[in-house]
Amino acid sequence: MKTRILLLGAPGAGKGSQAKLIKDYYHIPHISTGDMFREAIKEGSELGKLANTYISRGDLVPDEVTIGLVKERLSKSDCKNGYLLDGFPRTLVQAEALDKLSKDINQDLQLVIDVDVDDQILIDRITGRRVCKKCGSTYHIKNMPSKVEGVCDNCGGELYIRNDDNLTAFKTRLENYYKQTAPLIDYYKNKNLLVKVDGSKELNEVFSSIKKAIEE
Ligand code: AMP
Repeated sequence: MKTRILLLGAPGAGKGSQAKLIKDYYHIPHISTGDMFREAIKEGSELGKLANTYISRGDLVPDEVTIGLVKERLSKSDCKNGYLLDGFPRTLVQAEALDKLSKDINQDLQLVIDVDVDDQILIDRITGRRVCKKCGSTYHIKNMPSKVEGVCDNCGGELYIRNDDNLTAFKTRLENYYKQTAPLIDYYKNKNLLVKVDGSKELNEVFSSIKKAIEE
């Protein structure tokens, strides 16, 4: 079984939802740079203030900041039993930094899952997404609504629209994805680590394909 895993995919491909299923099923620490930045923004830290200027526009946070954050997280003891990266790396520079970091801790990446979804579906998913302010659970107004509108099923927290989930920021995020992140598909294909799954399918169907890739 593979326990050092990376989820690749465009914004809205469902990386976060699949990461939650993987984490709960295999008990692998989930490392989401997007979640880490949102946490820092909520706390009002210097990192949060800096990250927010990029995130609100749909731009990527500079490599050195993001790499520093992941370096610190990967060196924690829970990552000795594996790690699930979600949203990192997003650039070639970050991918090369990850190669070095994972080598340094003797924990080389074993599997890269490319969650593949058409652009039109991505737009629909992003513009209908709602997130819990308290626990970060995600919903969709049509595909996965909460039982009570605006209220999280898990913790009763208030649901909100991420400030980068508007159409203008989304277009920038998608452009950045094709320019900066999509080249990583070939990068990992060349390392024989890549498995592609059809992310347009229903949540559990996508998860079944991912489980197969992890266990084979
Ligand atoms: P996500 O929740 O993964 O969609 O990330 C939300 C936003 O955080 C992205 O649109 C970027 O602005 C920023 N971000 C997350 N991960 C990275 C990364 N690896 N490199 C640069 N910026 C990132």
